[in-house]
Amino acid sequence: MKANLKKTFFLFRLGIVVLILALSYWQIITGPSLAIRPENPRLLKQEEKLLRGRILDRKGRVISFTENKERIYQGPRAIAPLVGYTQAQRGQSGLELAYSSELLGQLPVQRFRNFTRGLLGLVPTGSDLYLTLDLSLVEAAEKALAGRAGAVVGLDVQTGEILVIATSPNFSPNRIAEDWELLTADKKSPLLNRALQGLYPPGSIFKLLTAYGVLKWELVAPGEQFVCSGKIEIDGHTISCYQGKAHGRLDFDEALAKSCNVTFVQLAQRLGRERFYELIEFFALARKPDLGVPVSMCRIPPQKGAGASSLSQLAIGQGALLVTPVQMAMLTAALASGTVRSPYLVREIKSGDVVLQKNESSWQLELETVSASLKNALRYVVEQGTGQAAGIPGLSVAGKTGTADNPHGRPHAWFVGFAPVENPRLALAVVVENAGEGGRFAAPIARLVFEEAMKNGYL
Ligand SMILES: [Zn+2]
Repeated sequence: MKANLKKTFFLFRLGIVVLILALSYWQIITGPSLAIRPENPRLLKQEEKLLRGRILDRKGRVISFTENKERIYQGPRAIAPLVGYTQAQRGQSGLELAYSSELLGQLPVQRFRNFTRGLLGLVPTGSDLYLTLDLSLVEAAEKALAGRAGAVVGLDVQTGEILVIATSPNFSPNRIAEDWELLTADKKSPLLNRALQGLYPPGSIFKLLTAYGVLKWELVAPGEQFVCSGKIEIDGHTISCYQGKAHGRLDFDEALAKSCNVTFVQLAQRLGRERFYELIEFFALARKPDLGVPVSMCRIPPQKGAGASSLSQLAIGQGALLVTPVQMAMLTAALASGTVRSPYLVREIKSGDVVLQKNESSWQLELETVSASLKNALRYVVEQGTGQAAGIPGLSVAGKTGTADNPHGRPHAWFVGFAPVENPRLALAVVVENAGEGGRFAAPIARLVFEEAMKNGYL
């Protein structure tokens, strides 16, 4: 009798398992491919039926959550164009759109979890998105930008995690419905995520590429001296140093520290077109980082037909070249660590305390060891050269400034850098639109973010 009861109970339990598997087959196995499109009415229905997951920073500080069917945002506005919004009339954007399925619990593992929760009479919930961002650094970057148009991107050099993104102008996602007309009519494009989508001429920060190349292929003799008369003619085009000033005699480190165009145009000729485009490959500048949210491709003039003059322009980051701040942060992080890493934004997807998905950098390209002399030269830029405003007592910072001419007013101010030089952890790219000199307007922003990173134990 007892054995019979046991057998019946076993069959009963087996029956439930079979039922669960059968019922969930079409939901779990066939469901997700149907549910990818965010405007899918079923997803909208899910929005009604379950509690959308939260978006949090790496330390668990809440950026967005749902209460009484309303999405509430409490992160800094500088990440609003990245986080995006989800709103009945205006739809979705940013991470809210890219990870809508996860936030609504539509991954197979989530669906199974919610199915069993349903059997137990519990409310189905979406999963939480834990970002790689640290809100303390975002707030420091936002404060440092002080409302000026531009962007800050910071990467963990060792992992590829994006620790900070700040973009300005921005918007309040809590007011997206009320402000919609104003936001879409605004010529400054506050909905645009400049850190990932902004395309700018890089100016002199692009000298990093030539600097790496001439050291890698040993095209500069030890102790070699260059002479700058303030301008140089290439193929009938004249390229001048900043404000036409002659730098006189200088060595490689000084040429980088003073950002001498004349020397770098000469070095680019030594490098040649083929090796220059090889460097573009090495640093994955033509490869778009896959972050789920929209990212712009860098605009790199085609190699075919690039003459000496356009190579010179390219070497000093002018001409037809346009780059995104995130790619410049990647380039800087690669010089700091010796590895080009794909960056990422979502650290973990969690339901309660259960980690459903843990992310890491999806591809790496190993560079040959970056020479200590290049790192020292970049440190010299911050200690003695144009990047002094990024310097912090007690921390070794390496970097490069850029003052990028553009057809839309004053030059864009750039700074890229990393710290600490001996054991790099954080790489930053800063751009301020139409601000003027990079050393004056972008380098101080980097300093404030590095300082906050020190306070938070990253450096
Ligand atoms: Zn010069």
